[in-house]
Amino acid sequence: MTYAALIAQARTTAALEAVAERLGWDQETMMPDGAGPQRAEEMAAMAAVLHARAVDPQVGDWLAELDEAALDDVARAQVRLMRRAHDRATRMPADLVAELARTRSMAHRAWAAARASEDVAAFLPHLARIVALKQQEAAAVAGNGPAYDALLDDYEPGATGAEVAAMFDALRPRLVALRAACLDRPAPAGLTGHFAPEAQMALAGKVAVAFGYDLTHGRIDRAVHPFSSGSGLDVRITTRTAADDPFNCLYSTIHEVGHATYEQNIDRAYLMTPVGRGVSMGVHESQSRIYENQLGRSRALTGWIFDQMRDAFGDFGVADASAFYLAVNRLRPGFIRTEADEVQYNLHVMLRFDLERALIAGDLAVGDLEAAWNDRFARDFGYAVDRPSHGLLQDVHWSEGLFGYFPTYTLGNVYAGCLHAALRADVPDLDAALAVGDTSPATHWLRDKVQRHGGLYAAREVITRAIGQEPGEGPLLDYLEAKFGAIYGV
Ligand code: ZN
Repeated sequence: MTYAALIAQARTTAALEAVAERLGWDQETMMPDGAGPQRAEEMAAMAAVLHARAVDPQVGDWLAELDEAALDDVARAQVRLMRRAHDRATRMPADLVAELARTRSMAHRAWAAARASEDVAAFLPHLARIVALKQQEAAAVAGNGPAYDALLDDYEPGATGAEVAAMFDALRPRLVALRAACLDRPAPAGLTGHFAPEAQMALAGKVAVAFGYDLTHGRIDRAVHPFSSGSGLDVRITTRTAADDPFNCLYSTIHEVGHATYEQNIDRAYLMTPVGRGVSMGVHESQSRIYENQLGRSRALTGWIFDQMRDAFGDFGVADASAFYLAVNRLRPGFIRTEADEVQYNLHVMLRFDLERALIAGDLAVGDLEAAWNDRFARDFGYAVDRPSHGLLQDVHWSEGLFGYFPTYTLGNVYAGCLHAALRADVPDLDAALAVGDTSPATHWLRDKVQRHGGLYAAREVITRAIGQEPGEGPLLDYLEAKFGAIYGV
């Protein structure tokens, strides 16, 4: 009976979370401009309701009196997730929660202004306050463990900074070498010309469906930043269009479809329960990245995408599927993480991980952050940051207190590398299907091995079960060196 009471409480919480999430989706897609102040109140009210439910002492009592030995595997997983959410929420002092919310909101505005005016000094006092508050949060949640791990755990339950650092240390030298070798060679041609946004959206819809996105339980809208939102029977995505760069819309869409189909493909028996969501940010990103890169940027599937592009835009100046594959996968020097290719992306993430870990540990002062960023960037990329918006002011995350979030991007890439190797071993003729736009041998494999489980297993465990061994960075590095070695002749 105690379990029934707990799961009923959790179902109502899941419903309220879905409502809150849809308010956020609406704000980015449909909301009239003038509604902003009212929406802020609506969302704050929902956040207060959800926080009160998370710390409800009745939930603590039920969790304490529960006889877990009598539960089956799914129920035990539900309880594990409920216990985790309740413990974390109750360890946070209420005044710290309020102070973080206030500081975040001010720091976010200060960051946007500082970025626009290239004024690092204007942002640093806000960042110092955020770092101090996140250190307090970490101390409240972590007990005696490493402070950074307590923050990382919020996005990647069970992961530790030491484990992530070891993975990144193994990635970095081979990525730096591959990057330098590729950029030493002549770059393939990119796209030029005008690509009508409406035709881009039509193509995005077609490609989304080809990747298994179910539009009877989803929809695609335009927004400033691509994201996916929701779970279960209602999972929506956004994308964006740039008339001179159709790859932005195309690959943002495929990426978000990876996130969205993960949520859509979770076993319906878990609907509106704690197990009925993607298990971690890293596992989520493994799905979006394998859809976007290992499948979406493969030679086989880009052959099919080339034909769809010709149907949508006519002759767009690329001679054939081979030239198109090179255009999709070309490397360029650059400063911006979100615009980086498969080879360079993880170097951006590692830089941020090392710096934020040092900040939270108290080993790096906020006043020394810009110099540390610029030194590290010059070492990994071989040229100097030319302005703060190309350096430490480029990402929104730190202004919003999202410390511990960045590594989940690369963890997702590493997991995607492992899943891709296992998928290729299980489905040797995958390319024949991809070449005609049929992703189902891959997407069905991912649904069966990863997506349907939701939060049933811990994050790393779901990957370990899918690939039959502990995940590591080897498969991702082997894949990148083979793919880009062939493209660039290095
Ligand atoms: Zn993503």
